[in-house]
Amino acid sequence: MPTLALVEADAKACVACPLAATRTQVVFARGDGSSGLMFVGEAPGRDEDLQGAPFVGRSGQLLDRLVAEELGLARDEYYVANVVKCRPPGNRDPLPEEIAACHHFLDAQIGEVAPRVIVTLGNFATRYLLATTEGITRLRGRSYPYRDGIEIVPTFHPSAALRSGGAVVADMRADLIRAKRALAR
Ligand code: SF4
Repeated sequence: MPTLALVEADAKACVACPLAATRTQVVFARGDGSSGLMFVGEAPGRDEDLQGAPFVGRSGQLLDRLVAEELGLARDEYYVANVVKCRPPGNRDPLPEEIAACHHFLDAQIGEVAPRVIVTLGNFATRYLLATTEGITRLRGRSYPYRDGIEIVPTFHPSAALRSGGAVVADMRADLIRAKRALAR
């Protein structure tokens, strides 16, 4: 089993899909998994591509605030990664072939971090990990068993909350409370 540092080194040298040509840098992860909690998003945006860490822009600030308020965790107490490690140009959706080329890094991260609960943020992460084509609006509101006893709790991507406001934030809070209960089990 590779260590996380080796997986990160592999990702940072990766040119397996066309996103390698347009990225500023590979965005691997932030935080650690000591709390047992991991978040999985879609792909880096502009701020992430520039800074080299996931969820560092406005979406990340909202996520960190909601996690602090609902779970009492600081931003370095949970692990955060994306399905795709390089920024799609113009923040377009990642293509199926890009996800296919990249997801083995996420699979390895999950294996190494060994979280007890994974909160998936939005359609792409949720669909990938639950192996479904269903949308996040129908999938959220409950938890799902994953491999090795991990529970998956789907919620909206925080960018949707920034766009849509109150009701989506309230749903995210409810999902985070669900994740907190799953962590306590
Ligand atoms: Fe490699 Fe993933 Fe970046 Fe594509 S997105 S170049 S597969 S690390």
